Amino acid sequence: MIPLSITQDELKAIQNSQPIVWLNNNYQNPASAPSTPNADELYAAEARLKRFAPLLQRLFPELEPSHGLIESSLIKADRLNSRINPVGGSLYLKADHDLPVAGSVKARGGIHEVLCFAESLALKHGVLKGVDSDYCALASQSARDLFSQHTITVGSTGNLGLSIGVIGSALGFKTVVHMSSDAKEWKMERLRKRGVRVVEHDADYGAALEAGRLETIADPCGYFVDDERSPNLFMGYAVAAKRLQAQLEALNIKVDADHPLFVYLPAGVGGAPGGITYGLKHIFNEHVHCFFAEPVQAPCMLLGMAGAPGAVPTSIYELGLKNRTDADGLAVGAASQWVCDATRNLLSGVYTATDEQLYQQLYLLKDLENIEVEPSAAIGCLGPEMLMTEAGQKYLDSHHLTHRMANSVHIPWLTGGSFVPDEEYQRYLAKAVKIST
Ligand SMILES: *Cc1c(COP(=O)(O)O)cnc(C)c1O
Repeated sequence: MIPLSITQDELKAIQNSQPIVWLNNNYQNPASAPSTPNADELYAAEARLKRFAPLLQRLFPELEPSHGLIESSLIKADRLNSRINPVGGSLYLKADHDLPVAGSVKARGGIHEVLCFAESLALKHGVLKGVDSDYCALASQSARDLFSQHTITVGSTGNLGLSIGVIGSALGFKTVVHMSSDAKEWKMERLRKRGVRVVEHDADYGAALEAGRLETIADPCGYFVDDERSPNLFMGYAVAAKRLQAQLEALNIKVDADHPLFVYLPAGVGGAPGGITYGLKHIFNEHVHCFFAEPVQAPCMLLGMAGAPGAVPTSIYELGLKNRTDADGLAVGAASQWVCDATRNLLSGVYTATDEQLYQQLYLLKDLENIEVEPSAAIGCLGPEMLMTEAGQKYLDSHHLTHRMANSVHIPWLTGGSFVPDEEYQRYLAKAVKIST
């Protein structure tokens, strides 16, 4: 096994599926992130999403109010704050569970990646004359004829497939989604209705991904969305930071040395939380503190970030874990090496939680804020409490934050849920009520 920056006690807790808080000792050490991306690409992604906005508005009527931007609100949650935050400051929820078009955080990265591919094809084949052209041309029959000759393939635990399938089919691409055994039936059904080919695997996410990769290699007109190493996905996610910055400014919320911002990001293979962290650190530097959150049964980003720069991330299976969790969006066995090597110096730490803890948060979100999320998305709400642990206190102390907590702002990132069918959500809620009351 590759040497990991974790203590023997931490290792034991991980192997016993006990929740832990792991502080990243490579935080603020640039040498630990050998492939830091170029921030120009973040601005390019933001500009691309703007260029596509008129087309997206046309393809998806629900984007009318935002003029084609796929964005979610930032919700002040005082009632929840008084329940879950023992460290002080205020609590806002980033409502990506409610992102239009895809209903999860994957709307940002997944859709951006497909737009990159569509744009490059359209420019190459003259459907677009240049990036200043009218992008509504991409809804024309000639554009659809072009796109229909190409197949976009992706491997997914559910939500990435949903996002890629929806945008891919809307543009006229042939779209294939390889689903892991965690994927929920309703997500597959929703895709089949749109003409997406869904391939079900009786195996985990890593296996679904490899099946998709292999199928694409064999197809000269194939395009594989590689969740394990895709700068286009990553930068699509990173744009969220620019949007959050504008939302914080509009609410007059300062982020500086005296007003620290804490962001809690549910993590699977790493692209979404990694991209968002990259964007946030680019904007707010040392004044934002990003923590990833994972199920005790699938702490793959913890193992990846604790590994050596340039090394293949250790898989959870090597530690005897089974990847058994109801948090299907986070049920990943091995992290993206690319994301680890791009962001290892930016991450403050990782905490893990049991499914029981997730359900408690799912219940509180519903009970106190009337917000409905899927289990994966509830994990971010454990962030403020995590700061009360010995490791959390050590972090606050070593970054001179302890006496600034009254001014702190905490943002659990709610990553998915609005598309969950009601009867499925009611099952989650019933389980959550049983655990919580
Ligand atoms: C995919 C997903 C995440 C994590 O994103 P990764 O890029 O896999 O790390 C978190 N929450 C939900 C609901 C997701 O679908």
